[in-house]
Amino acid sequence: MRGLQAKERSQVVEINSKVCKGCDSCKTFCPADAIAGKYGAVHKIDAEKCINCGQCLVNCPFGAPQDVVDPVDTVIEKLKSGECTVVATVAPAVRVAIGEEFGMTTGSLVTEKLYGALNKAGFKILDTNLTADQTIMEEGMELIAKIRHYVVEEPAQEDHLGPLPQYTSCCPAWIKFAEANYPQIIPHLSSAKSPMMMAGSLAKTYGAKEVWKTGPESIYMVGIMPCTAKKFEASRPEFSSAADYWTKHGQPGNYPDVDTVLTTRDLARLFKILRIDLNTVEEYDGHNDPLSAYSGAGTIFGNTGGVMEAALRTAYFVITGKELDILPFEPVRGLKGVKEASVKMTDSKTGKEIILKVAVAHGIKENVVPLIEQTVDGKSPYHFIEVMNCPGGCVNGGGQPINPMGTSWIDKYKAILPWN
Ligand code: SF4
Ligand code: SF4
Ligand code: SF4
Repeated sequence: MRGLQAKERSQVVEINSKVCKGCDSCKTFCPADAIAGKYGAVHKIDAEKCINCGQCLVNCPFGAPQDVVDPVDTVIEKLKSGECTVVATVAPAVRVAIGEEFGMTTGSLVTEKLYGALNKAGFKILDTNLTADQTIMEEGMELIAKIRHYVVEEPAQEDHLGPLPQYTSCCPAWIKFAEANYPQIIPHLSSAKSPMMMAGSLAKTYGAKEVWKTGPESIYMVGIMPCTAKKFEASRPEFSSAADYWTKHGQPGNYPDVDTVLTTRDLARLFKILRIDLNTVEEYDGHNDPLSAYSGAGTIFGNTGGVMEAALRTAYFVITGKELDILPFEPVRGLKGVKEASVKMTDSKTGKEIILKVAVAHGIKENVVPLIEQTVDGKSPYHFIEVMNCPGGCVNGGGQPINPMGTSWIDKYKAILPWN
């Protein structure tokens, strides 16, 4: 329904010059040194450097940075038109945050209410937790292939195996940062798409044919994300897997996998425009829906360490044939905000003992850059590194509800701020 894929967005967040007081706070939170301006003067974002994470937006005490991509009216039009099947893919971190926009206690888990509200608005649901499970399988299997080749020293089964350590690839802010600043790290990035992009291609292939019984171009795919960078990710022209698939199968077309993205804040506004109150809406348990079943592994994607733990459990099971009981993480000295773990396992095929070393990092400037430099210098001790841009992971993403004083002023969040 959207037709041709639009070109990549150049900017998602801009500073409103009429509101900015020049207080400089945003520079502290920007992971990409993308904000310029003297103290006391209006500040400006350099679109080339900006990785669209929205951390300046959620932390400015004056509300000057704004999300300039507003698809709420378009999505409402699509829902009302009846011309297409509007599918929502809902990220794990949205369901623990959107309640705040309706006066609920911070951190309330409202999955069934959220499903009920989406249903009432006219969306079909494809839970992103399901495609988080798929991402875990893809990343886990990719890691296993590398472990078997580089650590167990088996001949490679694939000719495009990237080097170790493998870095996670589901955070679009991190990916833009890596591409712009450390292109040498690109071969280390997992080739798995993010759960949102997997949801788009799943909806317009299997979902279109088997679930909603419609053509792929009649599906309008909406990512519902805690993240402003996802608006950029959806616009990247390489994400057209469903169109490529159908073109190969005799149905040529040119359309994106994900048509648009609503942040948690956008979705709350959409519900309010449609007069849907999350407090009173009839709950809907969609877990038996074909595209809303998922495991606990998919659920923990929203927290820092979640992707790593889920992928590692999969790798451990495939390599040893046993479940991993616990994954003990220890802080790494000298690298603030980086956690590491070592997992000893015996390869069930060869009997060889392997010690897998993993790291989890959030906060690009302080924590991820030293890990990248170690990797580039060939000195990384790790096999697998999870990277999330936002402090604490997507639960603290740039598309989440904004505290009037910015999240930095809430005591309980101080523990996950870059300077703690
Ligand atoms: S924190 Fe807000 S008001 Fe202060 S300089 Fe940045 S954008 Fe302007
Ligand atoms: S959106 Fe993120 S990268 Fe861009 S200016 Fe704001 S804090 Fe910096
Ligand atoms: S950590 Fe999550 S919310 Fe933050 S930029 Fe990355 S994907 Fe978006």
